[in-house]
Amino acid sequence: MDQAWVEATFAGIAGFGKGTRGFNRLVFTEADWAACDFFADLMRDAGLTVRTDAWGNLIGRLEGAEPGAPAVATGSHLDTVPEGGNYDGGVGSVAGLGAIMRLRARGPLRHPLELIVFRGEESSRFGIHTMGSKVMSGIASVEAWRDVKDRDGTPLAQILAARGLDLARLPDAVRRPGELKAFVEVHIEQCFVLEQAGIPIGVVEAIAAPIRLKLTVEGVASHSGATPMGKRRDALVTAAHLVLAVEDEARKRAERRIVGTVGILKVAPGALNVVPGRAELWVDIRGIDETSLIETAGAVTAAAERIAAREGTQVAVDTLASDTPVPMDPGVIAAIEAACRRLGVPYRRMPSGAGHDAMNMARIAPAGMIFIPCRGGVSHNPDEYAAPADIVRGMDVLTETLAALAA
Ligand SMILES: [Zn+2]
Repeated sequence: MDQAWVEATFAGIAGFGKGTRGFNRLVFTEADWAACDFFADLMRDAGLTVRTDAWGNLIGRLEGAEPGAPAVATGSHLDTVPEGGNYDGGVGSVAGLGAIMRLRARGPLRHPLELIVFRGEESSRFGIHTMGSKVMSGIASVEAWRDVKDRDGTPLAQILAARGLDLARLPDAVRRPGELKAFVEVHIEQCFVLEQAGIPIGVVEAIAAPIRLKLTVEGVASHSGATPMGKRRDALVTAAHLVLAVEDEARKRAERRIVGTVGILKVAPGALNVVPGRAELWVDIRGIDETSLIETAGAVTAAAERIAAREGTQVAVDTLASDTPVPMDPGVIAAIEAACRRLGVPYRRMPSGAGHDAMNMARIAPAGMIFIPCRGGVSHNPDEYAAPADIVRGMDVLTETLAALAA
């Protein structure tokens, strides 16, 4: 399983959903189904028994020597964002297939091996991310998902029914704790830390979670010509200080890997001759340590109150989301690191800033992630690229990790 095989396999997947700019394999579109059918054939050719669960997740299985032993699983996804790349998700799917093909050739391991292609990792179509692993780990709500529609207003239940899948049957796809011994996902880093450091492998310690705040600033809209500078209650000026406060509070905790972003800023009334009376800032704070996350959100809230009092405006803080970071399993981390050392491959421990299926799988099995570099850190973009040599190195580390976990 070398670079030529990796290139040929990616060329095969590239046959589905390729547009003038990047790939469009939104979940449950024709292109997505076709890519999964193509991949299921590769899995069968590799000697795996393939099934699809009640959500359409693809599961390929290679039996182990010990009857009834829990399976060691790997995998990722094939769906993309609109105008996305072929490597986000593709790398984990292809590396998983290659690793299992190699292990099959070496002879049976004690535990079965599974390759899972999750459906709907990207949130682009339904506004919900990692749907396939949410279903599999039992945290998908059939009731809530009855109201879910895609971007065009088509209900999820109808989209599933068109392929013979029944929303009510999703609980059939839940894997029970103990069914899987471990889950390991290879993924492109989606940033440039590894590339810039010249390190080929990242061992993920934890998957970051966001706290999302909405800061609403109430000032007073007034005539931009008639209101003297000393008499203004300019909501946008307060908002400007708030943007800097978010940056400042995140920077103070940079060594604890906190990042803070104001991604949305809305200003009203938005007229050239009116002092802004209202502003809304949507803040995304992420980290892998829950205490630091809560502390940062608290510091931003305190700064907002202080700034508003000084500026003569009012700020309301709403918490939109407060998720918990997901640590990866120490045993799986150790197995990945041991594999790197055995292969003589340099690695570094790092957080994952983005969410992945592994964070849901961590609820039902010890989970870990292996990052490989991607060119320029570019992802969710037509220019996304991972070099075959880097993919093969990720596959090498995965192979040895799975071998150790399944022995
Ligand atoms: Zn992905």
